[in-house]
Amino acid sequence: MARVVILGAGVAGHTAALHAKRLLGKEHEIIVISPNSKYNWIPSNIWVGVGKMSAEQVTFPLAPVYTKKGITFHQALAREIHPEGDTTTNSGFVSVSYTDPARSGEEGKVEYDFLVNATGPKLNFAATPGLGPDGHTVSVCTFGHAIEAAKSLKEVIAVMKSGKRQAIAVGVGHGTCTCEGAAFEYAFNVEHEIRAAGVRDLADITYITNEYELGDFGVGGMIFSQQGFQTSSKMWTESLFRERNIKAILGAHVEKIEPHEVHYELADGTKDVLNFDFAMLLPPFRGVDMKAFDKTGVDITDKLFAPSGFMKVDADYSGKPYEEWLASDWPKTYRNPLYPNIFAVGIAFAPPHQISKPRKSPNGTLIAPSPPRTGMPSGIMGKTAILSIQALIKSGVDADVASASMSDMGAACVASAGSGMKLGSAASMTMYPVVPDYVKYPNTGRSLDDTYGEIGLAGHWIKLLLHYMFIYKAKARFGWFLIPE
Ligand SMILES: Cc1cc2nc3c(=O)[nH]c(=O)nc-3n(C[C@H](O)[C@H](O)[C@H](O)COP(=O)(O)OP(=O)(O)OC[C@H]3O[C@@H](n4cnc5c(N)ncnc54)[C@H](O)[C@@H]3O)c2cc1C
Repeated sequence: MARVVILGAGVAGHTAALHAKRLLGKEHEIIVISPNSKYNWIPSNIWVGVGKMSAEQVTFPLAPVYTKKGITFHQALAREIHPEGDTTTNSGFVSVSYTDPARSGEEGKVEYDFLVNATGPKLNFAATPGLGPDGHTVSVCTFGHAIEAAKSLKEVIAVMKSGKRQAIAVGVGHGTCTCEGAAFEYAFNVEHEIRAAGVRDLADITYITNEYELGDFGVGGMIFSQQGFQTSSKMWTESLFRERNIKAILGAHVEKIEPHEVHYELADGTKDVLNFDFAMLLPPFRGVDMKAFDKTGVDITDKLFAPSGFMKVDADYSGKPYEEWLASDWPKTYRNPLYPNIFAVGIAFAPPHQISKPRKSPNGTLIAPSPPRTGMPSGIMGKTAILSIQALIKSGVDADVASASMSDMGAACVASAGSGMKLGSAASMTMYPVVPDYVKYPNTGRSLDDTYGEIGLAGHWIKLLLHYMFIYKAKARFGWFLIPE
C-alpha cells in the first residue's frame, strides 16, 4: 500500500485528490491536508465581488466529499517538509498545525510515500505598504475578501446615486503581480454594475497594471486569427477599454497605498499618484511559508524551493537572459529534482522565467508580470502528477511518468465583462500553447488555428456554464471525471 499526501485543496490539489482515489483504488491511501474547511471556486469570486453571487454559490464543505470518496482529510496547515524523515523515521513526512476547530492548537506529523504540493499562492499583500483588506484597498482573491469588496462597491454606488463623482481604481498592486486577467474581469464587471445602477456618468474608472500593453495578460499578449485576418489581443482589448470608457495606466509598479491614493512608478521611472474612492488591487503572489529539513534537521528550504517560495521542479532554473529562454525550459513532470517522490503542481511550482517581457525602470524597479498558472493548466498538472504516481507505484522508479508542459498545453480563459443572462458579456480566449514556442511557431509563438478571442453575450453563458460544471465536478458528482480539467 502506498500513501499519497496532497497539500492543498484548491483547483490543482482537489483535482489531484479525486483522480488519485479513482485511479489508484482502495488499496492505496489518499490524504489531503488543507487549512480551510471549504472548497472555493475562485474564478466566480469576481461575481461575489460585485454582489452578483453569494459565498454559498462559490463554496462547499470539503469533508463530506472526501468522506464519500474515502479520502482522509486533515484540516491543517502544512508547515515543514522532511523529505528524508528524521532521527525517528526514514519515511518522508510533513509537519502540520491543525486549523480544524475540533483539533485547535494540535500539531502533527503525516508520513508519505508520495507528496503532491498544491498549496497555491501566498497572497503577499505585505510587499506593498497599505495594500489589501488590512490596508486601504479591497481584494477578490478569497470569497471573504470578495464579500467585503461587494460591500465597498455598494457604498460608492450609493454615493454616486447621491450625485457625487467617484474615482474607481482596479488592477494589480505590485510590479511583479500575476493574474491580470482577473483584474481585467473585475474592472469590466464593476463598470457593468455601475452602468446598470444608472450612475456611469459619475464614475471615473481606471485600470492600473504592470502589463506594458493592454491585452498582455502576463502571457506576452496573443495574436488571434479572426475571420481570416490576424489581430492582436492588444488591439482587441484597447477597443474594449475605449468602448467602456475605462482609462488605463500601463507598465506600473504600485509602490504604496495611502488612504485614497495609489502611489506608483512607471517603466520610464516617472512617479505619480492615482486618487481613488474605491480600489481593488490584486496582491503579488509568492509561495506559502513552508520550510524543509533534511534527516539531521539541517534547513534545506533553499534546495526545495526557489527564492520566490515556489517549489523547484523539472524546469531550467539557470537564470538565463529573457531573450534566450526556450519553451523547453518549462517543466513537464512537476517532479522535484532532489526528491522525485515530491511533485509541485498549479501555482505552487516555480516557473523558470517570465513569459511577458520583464522591464526595469531607470530607478532599478522591476516591472515584470509573472506567468499566470490558471485553472485549466492547474487541474491538468494535478491529474498528471497522479498519473505519474500511478505509474511509479505499478512499475517502480524506472516507470515512464506522465508529462504535461505548459509549452505543449492549451488554455481557455473566459473573462467576464459583466453578468446577466440578457445583458452580460465576456471575452473568451483560447491559446495554444500557453507558453509560446517560437521554434515551432516562429512569428507568433502560438498556433494561429488554436488561438482566438471573441467577445459577446455567449461568452457570459459559457462562463456561467463553467461555474456550474466545475462545481459539479469538484463535488465529485456522478460522472465528474468526464468533465475535462
Ligand atoms: C479573482 C481570481 C479570479 C480568477 N479567475 C480565473 C478564471 O476565470 N479562469 C482561470 O482559469 N483561472 C482563474 N484564476 C486563477 C485560478 O484561481 C488559479 O489558477 C487556481 O486557483 C490555481 O489552483 P491552485 O490549486 O494552484 O491554487 P489554489 O486554488 O489557490 O489552491 C491552493 C490550496 O492550498 C491551500 N493551502 C495554502 N497554504 C497551505 C499550506 N501551508 N498547507 C496546506 N494547504 C495550503 C489553500 O487553502 C488552497 O486550498 C483566478 C484567480 C483569482 C485570484
